[in-house]
Amino acid sequence: MKKNIISYLIISLTILFNCSSEDILKKNLISSSNISSRNMKNLFQELQINSEKINLISSQNREKNPTAIVIHTTDSDSMKDYLEKSILNKFFIHAIIDKKGNIYKDFQSKSKVYRLIPRMDKYTVHIAIEGKEDEILSNVIQLNKISEFIGNYAKKYSIPLENKDIASERGIFTHTQAKKKYGNFVDMRDCGGEKLLASVLISLSGKYSPEIEWKDRLSKEWTFRKEDPKSSKPKEDFTHGRGITENPITILENVEKDSTGHIPEEYRVKYAFDQSMEPSCIVLHFTAISDFKVSLKVLEDRRVSANIMVDKDGKAYQLLDSLNHTARAAGGTNNSCIQIEIVGKNTEELLANESQTKKVIVLVNELSKKFGIQISNEKIESLKGVFSHTQAKKKFGRSVALVGKDFDPGEEYMKKVIEATGSKYYNEEEWYDRKSEDWIILYGDFQP
Ligand SMILES: [Zn+2]
Repeated sequence: MKKNIISYLIISLTILFNCSSEDILKKNLISSSNISSRNMKNLFQELQINSEKINLISSQNREKNPTAIVIHTTDSDSMKDYLEKSILNKFFIHAIIDKKGNIYKDFQSKSKVYRLIPRMDKYTVHIAIEGKEDEILSNVIQLNKISEFIGNYAKKYSIPLENKDIASERGIFTHTQAKKKYGNFVDMRDCGGEKLLASVLISLSGKYSPEIEWKDRLSKEWTFRKEDPKSSKPKEDFTHGRGITENPITILENVEKDSTGHIPEEYRVKYAFDQSMEPSCIVLHFTAISDFKVSLKVLEDRRVSANIMVDKDGKAYQLLDSLNHTARAAGGTNNSCIQIEIVGKNTEELLANESQTKKVIVLVNELSKKFGIQISNEKIESLKGVFSHTQAKKKFGRSVALVGKDFDPGEEYMKKVIEATGSKYYNEEEWYDRKSEDWIILYGDFQP
């Protein structure tokens, strides 16, 4: 107790003399080797979380010592809400540090694996910190306790004090980095906070790496891809499309063409040919841009493509030379699905556009007949059916634009199109196997 008072005085004095918080942390870390932590059970009592809920917490036994720590922040949730929502969504954490610097942990937790980031849980200890990142950064006492706790834990289990290589399964990471690597939550708000982790690692004389220095960050292995800011235009040359190949004859009734069946030159996209396919599914997208020609240019600049694009006036254009050519639009589905872009800023704009929606419905029907595609959005992994780009992202990830709640083109719109063909629309909770962990984005809105 006396020791605590002394270290508190040291902290206060150092603040008076205007030292950086890192200095304070370093000094204080040396001064106290014992961390008093309290049992999580006490916290449940204090917060009046009832025992029925507590009994829902499930864990597996840990086979090996942990090699990584992931930090989370409760953000705007109260401690009680955070813990209760975690439990109800079948997640849990090993320790939580409140605003006063109290550390609550489950004393058997080092031998337990809680579910939180399925791909990492086996080797990870999860620590939640009460508050928003900025609040925590200005709370010296809490910050001090976080560093102490993480420092001691890392020392005990020889966990490296660095965040550079999450794939190595060793180090201290934010939940944000874990999500960028492995996905799992539709909520892309920061959790854990990079500034907070930087402060902790620096105070412990570890090595903090900003996102651009994370190992292989620009590779395609990340769920949330990052494009290289230095080369927004890959050097690969176009091989097909407008001005390169001859404008082809289309086999579709419902796209624009001249009297001899050729598709109009100025509406074609330039693209690099990947491969041929036999279509067994359709994926719908919106362009997020209200203009056809601008959308076309953006596709070309980003070296992506779609098979068909439907303009706001209800006219549809075949962009690729053949419907058997694969487009680049939705990772995991490109080699089997016809990709249709619908010009519009957002779901509301699409829903309000009757003539365009009619054209999309007519096209889906025509493609379904022509290629024997069943109109159902139940099971995306079968690659048979009609799906939203969002459903593809939730299943397969692999997108640079998988941010926040994603509505591309919007499930309400999918429902309208699928039901207009006389088929059954499946709500997300009815999608095949949706509640399993075999999805990049887990079911549910809560992010622990
Ligand atoms: Zn988290």
